[in-house]
Amino acid sequence: MYDVAEIRKDFPILERQVHGVPLVYLDNAATSQKPRAVIQALSDYYERYNANVHRGAHTLAIEATDAYEEARAKVARFINAPGPENIVFVRNTTEAINLVAYTWGVANVKAGDRIVVTEMEHHSNLVPWQHVARVNGAELKLIAMAKDYTLDTSDLDELLTPATRLVAITQMSNVLGTITPVADITAAAHRVGALVLIDAAQSVPHMPVDVQALDCDFMAFSGHKMLGPTGIGVLYIRSEVSEQMDPFLRGGEMVLEVTYEDASWNEVPLKFEAGTPNIGDAIALGAAIDYLTALGMDNVREHEVALTRYAMERFAELEEVTTFGPSDLSVRGGVVSFYMSEIHPHDIGQVLDQLGVAIRAGHHCAMPLVRSRLMVPATARASFYLYNTEAEVDVLIDGLNQVLRYFGDAASKRA
Ligand code: PLP
Repeated sequence: MYDVAEIRKDFPILERQVHGVPLVYLDNAATSQKPRAVIQALSDYYERYNANVHRGAHTLAIEATDAYEEARAKVARFINAPGPENIVFVRNTTEAINLVAYTWGVANVKAGDRIVVTEMEHHSNLVPWQHVARVNGAELKLIAMAKDYTLDTSDLDELLTPATRLVAITQMSNVLGTITPVADITAAAHRVGALVLIDAAQSVPHMPVDVQALDCDFMAFSGHKMLGPTGIGVLYIRSEVSEQMDPFLRGGEMVLEVTYEDASWNEVPLKFEAGTPNIGDAIALGAAIDYLTALGMDNVREHEVALTRYAMERFAELEEVTTFGPSDLSVRGGVVSFYMSEIHPHDIGQVLDQLGVAIRAGHHCAMPLVRSRLMVPATARASFYLYNTEAEVDVLIDGLNQVLRYFGDAASKRA
């Protein structure tokens, strides 16, 4: 294990105060904070070797190209992809999934076909598939959530018919923390000839992920949730699939030969990276991966399991608070969504903010799950990362006790 107190010194923002008290940052499922090494990598690029990639013959262009391609290789090693050619840089998870929807999805999903998602999807892994299904005349089916907040895979064999073209599933729910059995679902999907896309926005930052072991066809994740900058994300594509796919955006960089009449495509992955890419942020994502690799993803996961266990024990002390998510920590990440009847999650968030505690309140871009399955208008959500501590969980719980006292008093005055 690593020393959390030492790790925290690498994150300048964790030293700041909010409303005169130390920041307790528990909104990591939305975005993570950045270590100095990542911020430094970004400014190094702009201060020392800023240039466009892939086409320049001068020193700076060569240095920038080498650093950009090295970042791609780091991403590939991090998720155990066969090679850097499997890694496409995009803006974020949302863009990665839309790339698949608008290229592979629109071309391969036919009328009467089926796309399967889960009830736990973030809007970014639901809305693009609603679109493909509507435009191409396919049906969209759901793997249900079980009572214990895991996935109910008991009727998977009926859901996965030979008409199923794609199964698009989250590996970790951003609302419940549920870690889903993606390897088993992938194997079942492949048995009926369907491809599998994994939304790994919440898993890759928090646990070891091996795309070859999972055997998925696509995987999407965002740099900003794993210590990297905003504006850079990753789409992994299995080689046999990417060779068959059309490009998404067309223009410079992604072409091999262009005549006035026609064009041929560059090799994968450049075929999918039209125009000048986000060079600086990709390089800084490489620095984030170096940081995570040095810590060890098993250690990150172990730290978060311990912290979540502690948080769940402390939450259990609060009778008025309902929490959502599996009680089995082997299938749960560091996310605790909670609800207090009578007190709106936004009010909880505001009171906690005054105490320096940053959490999120709302539907967390999973409106159908929150409203139709959890049956609440919104939840408050605390989400942990590798730098959070038990002392911070204590500040959160003290804050929630204050919320209960404050709104309890207000309610009794009204009565
Ligand atoms: N999928 C999941 C599970 C997420 O938690 C998120 C972000 O919260 C996304 C997708 C979308 O990520 P981004 O906004 O970086 O595209």
